[in-house]
Amino acid sequence: MHPDVIVIGAGAIGTACAYYLTRRGISVLVLERRHICAGASGASAAIIFNAGFNANKAPLQRLNSESHRLIAEIEQDFEKPIEKIAGGSLQVAMNEQEAHELRFYYEQINHINSGLLFLEETEARCFEPMLGPRVVAALYDPADFHVNPYRLCEGYLKSALRRGGKVEFGVTVTGIRVQNGRIDRVVTDKGDYRAQWVVVAAGAWTPQILRSIHMKVPIMPARGQVIITEPCSQLTQRIIKFFDHLYIKQTANGNFYLGSHSEFAGFENRITLEKITHYMQFYSRAVPLFTRLCALRFFAGFRPISTDDIPIIGPVPGCPRLILATGHGRSGMCFSAATGKLVSEFIIDGKTEIPIGAFSVDRFSRMQSQENL
Ligand SMILES: Cc1cc2nc3c(=O)[nH]c(=O)nc-3n(C[C@H](O)[C@H](O)[C@H](O)COP(=O)(O)OP(=O)(O)OC[C@H]3O[C@@H](n4cnc5c(N)ncnc54)[C@H](O)[C@@H]3O)c2cc1C
Repeated sequence: MHPDVIVIGAGAIGTACAYYLTRRGISVLVLERRHICAGASGASAAIIFNAGFNANKAPLQRLNSESHRLIAEIEQDFEKPIEKIAGGSLQVAMNEQEAHELRFYYEQINHINSGLLFLEETEARCFEPMLGPRVVAALYDPADFHVNPYRLCEGYLKSALRRGGKVEFGVTVTGIRVQNGRIDRVVTDKGDYRAQWVVVAAGAWTPQILRSIHMKVPIMPARGQVIITEPCSQLTQRIIKFFDHLYIKQTANGNFYLGSHSEFAGFENRITLEKITHYMQFYSRAVPLFTRLCALRFFAGFRPISTDDIPIIGPVPGCPRLILATGHGRSGMCFSAATGKLVSEFIIDGKTEIPIGAFSVDRFSRMQSQENL
């Protein structure tokens, strides 16, 4: 028996698609070349922002708020807790220029998000005693939280399996064969698979799979290097964010997670002394405690980033049952639930509660033809 849907990739996006599809009675097979969370999802901080890194981009606002709401409640349907730590986030300014930007942002957004708290220097340090003397101001958002990325993906996948879904690990998809606009088969190193629908959720590797149908999608791998410290007693529940995309969180086990710029270095899976030294210097100035902690692990992950930094969700032109769900950049954990739900609505109902036009892959060819005019 063939499944109704094959999902390629067992990261946050693929497992969320499997979860929402099986919740509505659709049979799903997930094909993953390695193991769950083997890509960007396993490297991520899994911070679930209320207003996201990209929430100033209009199409993302509903995706963001819907996903935030769904993930906040999702644990009820999972067997294991997702180690949700709901202490809010503190965006910290380390100089006057940053404090000015933070104040400006607060004034713009305060009427929409009334829970925000703007803190001047001393208030900020009393509020979060881990911060060092260089702090100039901070903005607190109580709605942000973080989770364990493995637990979130495992929760999606195990719930899907409980509802009859299937997964095969160690299967590399090498191509998709399409005939007259219909999916003929998914070609893998373990043989061919068939389904009426295919969802490509292979993160930064999606372009490699789409090459088989001669389709180019502008997704690039954006490397993020991460430091994990030794565990210590629970010192903060807050996500502490700095400018320039640097942030820390303390996990449920007590380790600190220190991340992470986006670097465009292809799929070079390396930890560079230059980046790690920069992080160490920056973080120990911002949080003096870090000068006394040992680093336990370093690793890198590849965020799938599209050229306009907006996800691609929806069908491939000319092949309406081949669905793309990728390009979530810095916010894929955050957007995972809403993306899975949208994909399931599109496949089952033929329409979605949140319009997906802005996420269509067509937009890149439209941009291209406008540039050529
Ligand atoms: C350092 C770092 C920190 C981050 N922090 C956050 C954060 O705090 N909050 C947030 O929202 N987002 C964060 N992100 C971004 C987030 O992790 C990504 O947007 C998200 O994980 C993308 O999920 P995905 O399922 O699309 O891709 P991936 O997690 O990369 O999953 C793709 C899967 O497809 C599989 N695959 C690839 N090719 C094939 C093939 N040919 N056949 C079969 N399987 C294949 C891979 O093995 C992989 O398991 C972070 C990312 C990084 C790197």
